[in-house]
Amino acid sequence: MHEGVKRLIDQGYEAYLVGGCVRDYLLGKPLHDVDITTNATPNEILAVFSDYKTFDVGIRHGTVGVLIDKNIVEITTYRKDNDYENYRRPKEVTFTSSLVDDLKRRDFTMNALAYNEIDGLIDCVNGQEDIKKRIIRAVGNPDVRFNEDALRILRALRFKGQLGFEIEPKTKAAIYKNYHLLDNIAGERINQELNQLIVSEFVDDVLKDFKEVIEFLVRQPIRTEAISYISRSLEVRYALLLSNSEIAHLKLDKKRTQLITFLIENRDRQLGTTVYTLLKDLSEFNHKQVVYLAQLQQVKIDHLLSEIKDKRLIYNIADLQIDGNQLIKMGYKQGPQIKVLLNLILEAVMSGILHNDTKSIQEWLIKQ
Ligand code: ATP
Ligand code: MG
Repeated sequence: MHEGVKRLIDQGYEAYLVGGCVRDYLLGKPLHDVDITTNATPNEILAVFSDYKTFDVGIRHGTVGVLIDKNIVEITTYRKDNDYENYRRPKEVTFTSSLVDDLKRRDFTMNALAYNEIDGLIDCVNGQEDIKKRIIRAVGNPDVRFNEDALRILRALRFKGQLGFEIEPKTKAAIYKNYHLLDNIAGERINQELNQLIVSEFVDDVLKDFKEVIEFLVRQPIRTEAISYISRSLEVRYALLLSNSEIAHLKLDKKRTQLITFLIENRDRQLGTTVYTLLKDLSEFNHKQVVYLAQLQQVKIDHLLSEIKDKRLIYNIADLQIDGNQLIKMGYKQGPQIKVLLNLILEAVMSGILHNDTKSIQEWLIKQ
């Protein structure tokens, strides 16, 4: 028995594995994180695990994180959600002593299963059968459930992308009817689900069936309906999918935003022969950027880069056999024009009309 479940039961509480871990177990998929549901209150959970390292991952909502066997296990008190306001998660949660209530507040039947070794599988919404049939079905009335928390709409798409399941017709209809409610959901929560969807295995099926939902979320037309054949990198997939680089609202971190913007703005550049000039144009050369761009264009980058190395080609003014100080000594005026001049020299070297050695460069400059 799971150590966390066992300990709670040993101290007189009810406790079950719940949600994604039970679903993934039934699917024969590797488990990545474990959630436990229990009738112990947060304070009682803290007391039961007082000799463990615990984390406040949302005690207000009934969730205590406990470090068990090097994993943080989220242990949550049986809960009944109420008072959804503005389609967001409820402000207040109500604890309940009923496991069934707790399971019924969950999003999809496949996620509403509980298990422990004593009681076996607790399935009050026919979740096991839906898993067998590979169906994503809202618990209860989908229209109501999506109005309570619109993020569930995107979660349905994310699970479809990851599992390749079909979305049950009524749930699907409620998605089409309510997806505009996603406007009320915080960017960070959207982002968390959307990113998982974009890198998922069956993302193309989702893009095909729910194009208008995705376009609503990314706030622009999407360009292509097939992105799953390309590398699993979020950046590369976004760059293939989006039609323009206005992505600030996606609330990705700065580095990712920059990389995606770069990829979108450069995706149609011919990489093959011009990778060399491309390297120069990247003001701060970033190997990763070029590799990702190559992936985006499905070009084999390795030989291009090794060719550059073999031929001792340069693409950076720092690699020139002359620098600003030497130019000033030659009589050029200090200031921004020095950099302009260095770039002119670099261009001449890169295009092959000038050798990268100090003497040749000086002679070339005098001739200009
Ligand atoms: P994953 O394997 O990706 O972690 P998961 O099913 O465990 O998938 P989590 O986001 O970790 O998803 O949530 C854990 C469980 O909490 C879900 O299985 C579901 O029962 C419940 N849950 C999560 N988000 C919601 C929501 N917005 N509405 C209702 N129930 C939810
Ligand atoms: Mg989970």
